[in-house]
Amino acid sequence: MCNLMDIEKFQKNLIEWYKKEGRDLPWRHTRDPYAIWVSEIMLQQTQVDTVKKYYTRFLRTLPDIASLAEADEDLVFKLWEGLGYYRRVRHMQEAARQIMTEYGGHFPETYDTIIRLKGIGAYTSSAISSIAFGQEKGVIDGNTLRILSRIYDRQDNIALEKTKKAYQLLMDELIQGTDPSMFNQGMMDLGAGICTPRHPDCEHCPVRSFCKAHAAGTECLLPVNIKNTSKTDLYYITAILKKDGKYFLIKNNDGLLENLYGFVQYEVESPVSFEEMFYENYGLSVRLYEYCKEIKHVFSHRIWHMNVYLGEIMDTPEPMNESLSVCLYTESEMAELPISTAHRKVCTQIP
Ligand code: SF4
Repeated sequence: MCNLMDIEKFQKNLIEWYKKEGRDLPWRHTRDPYAIWVSEIMLQQTQVDTVKKYYTRFLRTLPDIASLAEADEDLVFKLWEGLGYYRRVRHMQEAARQIMTEYGGHFPETYDTIIRLKGIGAYTSSAISSIAFGQEKGVIDGNTLRILSRIYDRQDNIALEKTKKAYQLLMDELIQGTDPSMFNQGMMDLGAGICTPRHPDCEHCPVRSFCKAHAAGTECLLPVNIKNTSKTDLYYITAILKKDGKYFLIKNNDGLLENLYGFVQYEVESPVSFEEMFYENYGLSVRLYEYCKEIKHVFSHRIWHMNVYLGEIMDTPEPMNESLSVCLYTESEMAELPISTAHRKVCTQIP
């Protein structure tokens, strides 16, 4: 679609549809960059329905940049409790302080300045700059990559960075001359509700007449999304953490070892970094006190190098210790748990 008339018609169809059918979400009633930022960070790795409850409470308690910058860390973490990925909110508070010192408390207004804030990537920067400040910057994520690959019937592998860059240019072209906020949110909703990964609802699609994949009958074959399957070496610090004679294990909710239990491990380079990351995620201080050995485990397409340490959980500070008891197991309880083979090897290092 390089014809200007076509682009204008595409924009018009999308935005008219969005005005009628777009999701009514709390953060769509504001142009306050702070509120939009909070919603976008919460929406990373969290479902919309869950975010709605947290968003309202967070903004009621910390209504602006200054209040977040000055807030007690415990309060901030309490407001985030249950959303997980606590590094997100820690970075938000750091960014709020950055805005106070570098921008006098005014949220920066352009994509290039927003992206320099702690914890903000290309997607979030595009979303904030377009929705709050009307900058013509298209959002690129799984939804928009899928829509574009279908609209243009392109076979590019969307797992590759070069494809993302090329599609960013396409999005930035499509967004020219229209309402950037409406356009980006229209694309987000189109991807979430109509142009879904499986069984896209082409019959109700507002941009069907522009869709080359639909015309060719290839929409269900797209996008091409092939992850690199070559063996990758991953280096972890894996900790056997103990408290009151029990061991700290977590259940994997997704990924390679879904539903299996294992020790906590992070791709970090030092025990201190591990301790910091553990605190960010669980709100608990730990101390790694002894290095055991490196244990290697080979999967079909990756190799884990687990540098095993012994450690202890030092305290149980509020507010995030509620689930601690369910993470601690005696050795005999561990014998009954479904523990991944890789971490069964780690168990051999228990003294
Ligand atoms: S016509 Fe179908 S495949 Fe094409 S953009 Fe619309 S929903 Fe997606």
